[in-house]
Amino acid sequence: MTTTTVQCTRTGLALRDVTLTYPDGEARLTALDRVSLTVAPGEFTAVAGPSGSGKSSLLAVAATLLRPDSGSVLIDGQEVGALSEKARSALRRERLGIVFQQSNLLASLTAVEQLLVLESVRGGKPRAARERAEALLASVGLDASKQRRRPHQLSGGERQRVNIARALFGEPSVLLVDEPTSALDHERGAQIVDLLATITRDHGTATVMVTHDRDLLDRVDRVLAMHDGRLV
Ligand code: ADP
Ligand code: MG
Repeated sequence: MTTTTVQCTRTGLALRDVTLTYPDGEARLTALDRVSLTVAPGEFTAVAGPSGSGKSSLLAVAATLLRPDSGSVLIDGQEVGALSEKARSALRRERLGIVFQQSNLLASLTAVEQLLVLESVRGGKPRAARERAEALLASVGLDASKQRRRPHQLSGGERQRVNIARALFGEPSVLLVDEPTSALDHERGAQIVDLLATITRDHGTATVMVTHDRDLLDRVDRVLAMHDGRLV
């Protein structure tokens, strides 16, 4: 047996010259066109661009869920392309926090259980895990009574907080967030972006938030613009 993960220090995320295409009839559609991006630990970067510009594709490649046609992805200095499928999923579990555009909370579970289900998969100590889950949910602004609610008993903003807490539960070095404010009004959206800024500072994550909403970008460290698969 070889070990599936390699110890490496937290250096964040790097994409180098990444190109991604999708099949498009007889041709290929270029979703990412030689994209390069480096995000250091503790840095909050936003990628802003119109719908269809390639933002979700960028996150899918950074999340190691899609393999690019060319170029490389490094997570904490580790080149992802060289890894087996198994090693990639271990890396994802141990180093990445992902908040998808579509909330994928489980309808039958309470907020705290959404986090604990990850730990039961991992086989950790239930008691310690519950305390950690509760503390994390409290830190994103959900009190004890909200922590016992199921998704349909929470507001959109509260569900987004659960999504974020769940992404943080594995203590990721890289946090990837897709359009976290798109379903929220301005004030709630601003609160979520502020929360992500606080998390980036407190947890030292290399955070990438993609958005088509140019409204809330004064709160991030850096804004990059995406157009037709190019980062400018
Ligand atoms: P954004 O998140 O900025 O809206 P996407 O990354 O979702 O952009 O999409 C970029 C381009 O790739 C769009 O033209 C979209 O239609 C296309 N695309 C996205 N996913 C797929 C897919 N699975 N198969 C084919 N084309 C896709
Ligand atoms: Mg998208």
